[in-house]
Amino acid sequence: MIPYGRQDINQQDINAVVDVLKSDFLTQGPQVPLFEQAVMNVCGAHYAVAVNSATSALHIACLALGLGKGDWLWTTPNTFVASANCGLYCGAQVDFVDIDPRTYNLCAKELEKKLIAAEKVGTLPKIVIPVHFSGQPCDMQAIHTLAKKYGFKVIEDASHAIGGKYQGEPIGNCHYSDITVFSFHPVKIITTAEGGMAVTNSPELAQKLDLLRSHGITRDTHLMTKPMDGPWYYQQVDLGFNYRMTDLQAALGVSQMQRLNAFVTKRHELAQRYDTLLKDLPVTLPWQHPDSYSGLHLYVIRLQLDKIDKTHLEVFEGLREAGILVNLHYIPVHMQPYYQEMGFEEGLFPQAEQYYKEAISIPMFPTLTEKQQDEVIAILGELLL
Ligand SMILES: *Cc1c(COP(=O)(O)O)cnc(C)c1O
Repeated sequence: MIPYGRQDINQQDINAVVDVLKSDFLTQGPQVPLFEQAVMNVCGAHYAVAVNSATSALHIACLALGLGKGDWLWTTPNTFVASANCGLYCGAQVDFVDIDPRTYNLCAKELEKKLIAAEKVGTLPKIVIPVHFSGQPCDMQAIHTLAKKYGFKVIEDASHAIGGKYQGEPIGNCHYSDITVFSFHPVKIITTAEGGMAVTNSPELAQKLDLLRSHGITRDTHLMTKPMDGPWYYQQVDLGFNYRMTDLQAALGVSQMQRLNAFVTKRHELAQRYDTLLKDLPVTLPWQHPDSYSGLHLYVIRLQLDKIDKTHLEVFEGLREAGILVNLHYIPVHMQPYYQEMGFEEGLFPQAEQYYKEAISIPMFPTLTEKQQDEVIAILGELLL
């Protein structure tokens, strides 16, 4: 069986976690700031706040930017539900912007159209969350220009994209956004089992994120609103959560970060091999914007259904029956029952819906062997020709 994605854990990773188990701190020890520093070193942001998932990072990023009741959050329908749910957690309303048919990312032109319409009726978004789908960055320069013009904040959901570049600069430098969020779930580029991080260049936002990840409690006298009672003292100055990352996870993260470049390079080698060996099949291969270097979390093919005599479902099931555990990223969020109950209907975001009818994520992970890759290609050939 070949999964669509999986982690790569080596002896150094195992030793790093075991060392923490034998140490004084299982959580809130030295590994968390080391991991934060390692991520900052790579992405170039000035502040980093490690948390227990990207979902938590998205939640506190929205709160730090002041999202609340009566506000709107916009994101892409072609994402994991967490990119939209974070708006609902804050009591805001959520809407979507359709995708670019080539990159499958939130389309900046569609965003502009929707902003023009929203301005007329007074429903401009407070936050827009572009998602760097499959690791390929969105058109951040265009989104940033619109953010300045229409006054919204930007959170980059870079869950797929650590190690990638936009216009030659690392994703996560927050050049064109307020906050960037990473995920370290085992299928992503590097892993801490569960885990996420929010990075920013704003000291004010970093401070808020830091408070929100740990109950809104501080031991920093500068943040306290009344004098200390004594050395035991801490103050709760906001309503936060327990979203902390453990030292076990952070140690794994520090160790994995040392192989980040090797992981992404290997993903590119595999993608190039797929590009070459799948080019004669009736499928649309992933298009790579020349301005960007993708993290290549996913390799998505789109079936050219008019050229094959099978349905999308039949091809998908054929692959699964042959032991290729393909997946589909993503079911458009607005087609989820929970969102349909809120009034979203099929037909609202045609590009994302068309994509959903054709897309299949085939295996892409650094330990995928050429032999396994050849097996995937051979089975695809049998199913499609
Ligand atoms: C994985 C993922 C998330 C959620 O990440 P967790 O760390 O599992 O909470 C959010 N957004 C996108 C685009 C993702 O792929």
